Amino acid sequence: MNIYEKRLDAVFEKIEKARTKVSEHQIIKLVAVSKSVTSKEVELLYNAGQRAFGENRVQELAKKSEELENLPLEWHFIGRLQKNKINALLDQNVSLIHSCESFSLAKEIDKRLEAKGKKVNILLQINSAKEDSKSGVMPEVANEEYLKILSECKNINLLGVMSMGAHEDDRKLVQESFEATYKIFESLKSHGASICSMGMSGDYELAISCGSNMVRLGSTIFH
Ligand SMILES: *Cc1c(COP(=O)(O)O)cnc(C)c1O
Repeated sequence: MNIYEKRLDAVFEKIEKARTKVSEHQIIKLVAVSKSVTSKEVELLYNAGQRAFGENRVQELAKKSEELENLPLEWHFIGRLQKNKINALLDQNVSLIHSCESFSLAKEIDKRLEAKGKKVNILLQINSAKEDSKSGVMPEVANEEYLKILSECKNINLLGVMSMGAHEDDRKLVQESFEATYKIFESLKSHGASICSMGMSGDYELAISCGSNMVRLGSTIFH
């Protein structure tokens, strides 16, 4: 096994342990966050079996997807989306936008989609940790915002929620922020929500134990 296969293997082993504690039926999708590595490293991880990659800058996603256009990769956008970058992002074949941080941003995306005759998959980001440094809707209004996007943004496929765990050494607070997100996700399942994207290198096992079914891992895979 090469180093990339070993790192993926180690991650899958931990995911497997965490998910089977929740349920045998809990299937977890791994998004490898490639924001701090080159296209070459993405290719090496692809060769090790990984297909889904996440970027937090539109420019960088466009650059890598172009450089690697011959590979059947799935690109996820996980960063803050400025309104003046929406068109550039939609011109890429983006598989899922995790970071829609408000109804008004969703409206903007929807408008551009309408003009392009396209649809796109989106998650609503929730700021469950209520930290100023994080974006997303506040948990108290998340349900309402989600339903508003569902009813008013016809070109958006709204598939669930995304959240970042609290930036805390206190595991209990991190856990509470994940639980808050999961609770919202659960209540939205009847409205079609199927993806709960939470968990990064430092907290993905905890996130899975709280119900996450999509983790976004960068440093633990790429160092
Ligand atoms: C960078 C980033 C990640 C990955 O973080 P690691 O700690 O390197 O695993 C996940 N999600 C978002 C939104 C990020 O910006």
